[in-house]
Amino acid sequence: MEGVLVTGTARASLTGECVRCLEQITDEMDVTFQELFVYEDHALPEEEDDEVSTLQADLVDLEPLLRDAVVLALPFQPLCEDDCPGLCPDCGARLADDPDHAHEAAIDPRWAALADLNTQTEQN
Ligand SMILES: [Zn+2]
Ligand SMILES: [Zn+2]
Repeated sequence: MEGVLVTGTARASLTGECVRCLEQITDEMDVTFQELFVYEDHALPEEEDDEVSTLQADLVDLEPLLRDAVVLALPFQPLCEDDCPGLCPDCGARLADDPDHAHEAAIDPRWAALADLNTQTEQN
């Protein structure tokens, strides 16, 4: 026996924003973790880095372990729904609230000439 194997489960509450529409997201997640905490007098000096967890006077410090488990389990790009349509590029309205959202005159008349130019470029 060179240490104590710690196995655990933790539940965490998440709060964040959808990356597409900025809607507030709250969720809960369960994470499991397992780590061997080596007795201090068994840890070789060169092993005293972040890779090896050691018992600190018969106590285990679960915080780094828990933090790593939670951070790894977090979604990289949280979404309010898997198919969140995001925001209207013209006015910023949240499209999930208004699926038929559309603009009659999407183009400012002062820029209409540029739109014609763009059409010509695409045709060439
Ligand atoms: Zn969203
Ligand atoms: Zn809009």
